[in-house]
Amino acid sequence: AKDPVRVLVTGAAGQIGYALVPMIARGIMLGADQPVILHMLDIPPAAEALNGVKMELVDAAFPLLKGVVATTDAVEACTGVNVAVMVGGFPRKEGMERKDVMSKNVSIYKSQASALEKHAAANCKVLVVANPANTNALILKEFAPSIPEKNITCLTRLDHNRALGQISEKLGVQVSDVKNVIIWGNHSSTQYPDVTHATVGDKSVPELVKDDEWLKSGFISTVQQRGAAIIKARKLSSALSAASSACDHIRDWVCGTPEGTWVSMGVYSDGSYNVPAGLIYSFPVTCRNGEWTIVQGLSIDEFSRKKLDLTAEELSEEKALAYSCLS
Ligand code: NDP
Repeated sequence: AKDPVRVLVTGAAGQIGYALVPMIARGIMLGADQPVILHMLDIPPAAEALNGVKMELVDAAFPLLKGVVATTDAVEACTGVNVAVMVGGFPRKEGMERKDVMSKNVSIYKSQASALEKHAAANCKVLVVANPANTNALILKEFAPSIPEKNITCLTRLDHNRALGQISEKLGVQVSDVKNVIIWGNHSSTQYPDVTHATVGDKSVPELVKDDEWLKSGFISTVQQRGAAIIKARKLSSALSAASSACDHIRDWVCGTPEGTWVSMGVYSDGSYNVPAGLIYSFPVTCRNGEWTIVQGLSIDEFSRKKLDLTAEELSEEKALAYSCLS
């Protein structure tokens, strides 16, 4: 039998955490034959709720779940973890300035970076979910210099999956038949959902949709605004889809992407597609042997170029704001 993999979930008593931990314990993230030990971290006001989640995990009697650590101590939570899913973060509250939210998250991600750097297993893979996800991931990278930068990523897979879902509904085809959409840039409303290279079977999505106007406006804004639409409908933000896409992100990263298919991940830019190096930016990637590679050589038309640049500009501004919070 395989040795258990230790998976950290921060903010584990929150909504996404509550949806995510049973998926991990069922093998949806790492495979049906991979035992796991869950490390759940939350802040002291959530300690009791966190303990309740631990009780439910015991009650669910998951065969793959070999242990549960539920703690408010970051060092205990980070010790020996192989995968870290960072869901905990300071939420946007009404009336708060952008800088105040940024400042809170910068200090959270700075201290969690240090805990991971010192105590996580070598080669720990990190996925940041909490917003501003790209910039939180960048701060984590800066303050965990011994973790390889290739191991620090942020979640744009939910946006990617939302784009697949919209195309499948529009064309009346199975979502599993839609491939190779791309989310470029920031996990925010400036993200660019791009279907230029997407396919269904051997046909191109733009040719099948035959509605350039929808692809360039309605589709893009639906994907960008989907989070807000869910809050309006549910009176709570998306949680099951966020948790499911976090599992997709880690599974594909660890187990590899299917031949001929790419996915979107927020990763450290090396300057590909003229995106400034040094940002955490969402690119199309393929994964193999536990490593992602940015898909190269895709054509970028003028419409796309503008969108790629706009979301990069926003990320550069966020980066500057985050650094100003450090001084
Ligand atoms: P959720 O579990 O709903 O969300 C957690 C984070 O994920 C938020 O930052 C949220 O951003 C972000 N997120 C990213 N993508 C999505 C998406 N598509 N849909 C929804 N959320 C998304 O929040 P809860 O408030 O229920 O739980 C947060 C937990 O974090 C709590 O248990 C809390 O105690 C803990 N926490 C930890 C802190 C720390 O570690 N120091 C500080 C504060 C809280 P957005 O805010 O933009 O919705």
